[in-house]
Amino acid sequence: MIKAPRGTNDILPPETNKWAYLEALLRRLSNTYNFQEIRTPIFEYTELFTRTVGETTDIVQKEMYTFEDKGGRLLTLRPEGTAPVVRAFLEHGLDSKALPAKLFYLGPMFRYEKPQAGRYRQFMQYGVEILGSPSPYSDVEVIQMGVKIAEELGLLGTTLFINTIGCPECRKEYREDLVEYLKDQISDLCPDCRSRIDTNPLRVLDCKNPECRKVTQDAPSVHDYLCDECEAHWETLKTILTSLGMEYTVDPTLVRGLDYYTRTVFEIKWPPLGAQDTIVGGGRYDGLAEQLGGSHIPGVGFALGMERLLLASDKGEKPIDATCPIDCFIVVAVGEDDGFSDDMYIRGFQLLQDLRSSGISCDFDPLRRSMRAQMKHADRAGAQYTIIFGEEEFRNSAVSVRSMKHGWQKQIALDHVLGFVKGEILGGT
Ligand SMILES: [Zn+2]
Ligand SMILES: [Zn+2]
Repeated sequence: MIKAPRGTNDILPPETNKWAYLEALLRRLSNTYNFQEIRTPIFEYTELFTRTVGETTDIVQKEMYTFEDKGGRLLTLRPEGTAPVVRAFLEHGLDSKALPAKLFYLGPMFRYEKPQAGRYRQFMQYGVEILGSPSPYSDVEVIQMGVKIAEELGLLGTTLFINTIGCPECRKEYREDLVEYLKDQISDLCPDCRSRIDTNPLRVLDCKNPECRKVTQDAPSVHDYLCDECEAHWETLKTILTSLGMEYTVDPTLVRGLDYYTRTVFEIKWPPLGAQDTIVGGGRYDGLAEQLGGSHIPGVGFALGMERLLLASDKGEKPIDATCPIDCFIVVAVGEDDGFSDDMYIRGFQLLQDLRSSGISCDFDPLRRSMRAQMKHADRAGAQYTIIFGEEEFRNSAVSVRSMKHGWQKQIALDHVLGFVKGEILGGT
């Protein structure tokens, strides 16, 4: 038997109901914050990611699904959403329209990673981007929305970590001093960090290795190197957060790893998840549009992995209900083979169509199993009402309607049953 590729995930019912709920929640909040959806292709020219995410990042070096198509073009399944959004934004001239543009995306991303709990090679991400605003208010807008999503899912006790990593201007001198500092301690660093010193020294700061942590504790801080503009942005950001009563922790080792980030970076964590407890991560990327050949379009946004968010939701205060019950189920008695039960079946099937036409969700058993099996089926489907076509009732042109919730059962004339059930379920319409 052929199985699904390693690291992929079939999402089956009733789990799909949780996904639908989460997607609806994210779409609703997008609207609340005035973000509009953008859909970009799931593959792009490889260069889009190597040029923006960064040649030296794990994503580009180890995790991309890259292939050559029949025309010899190098393509990559998108590993993240921001670069494609900015690419599309520039390509379609959205920068000449009203700014800022507020966009959200929701769809699959692909990374060749070691599969582990809640992490897949094809995974679903939701993200928002505000393009064309250098204002720290925009930073706070996306941070606040990330916190709001967690709240709506009943994830209490999230923690917000923020940091600034400056701009390419102020980072130049910082980088030199950091490299010098790290080179002095090189023997204490893990092999990964040793090679990062020259390629991506900032990444050493967020290495989880305890030995590296010890080294970076006393490393020079970018906060001492900020230019006036970056300093002002950082201070204003904190002032706005405080004015909203939002608690935050400044984490100088938070750098987020991707080359395109500038100034603000942030993560929202939910500690009950354990080691992998970041549920939302994002930051500002003021140079990204220029890197792609566009004009200077400052931007800020976040992304969240929906698998991890659902994992968190299951452990949270109000786990998403996976059931998707139907309103009613039609049960037909299986009688002697005298054609009588055929009549009942056809009449039951007609009622099914009438109910569905009225917007009432309902089902029946096409396999004509025993009454008991049909009742079980009704139960499994979560039906609130069963409509029972019994032989005796049917001879009197009636059926029995049973409320599964309240336990009562009533005989209703066949001619009135549609109106009765509609009244019960739709409230008398
Ligand atoms: Zn700066
Ligand atoms: Zn390290």
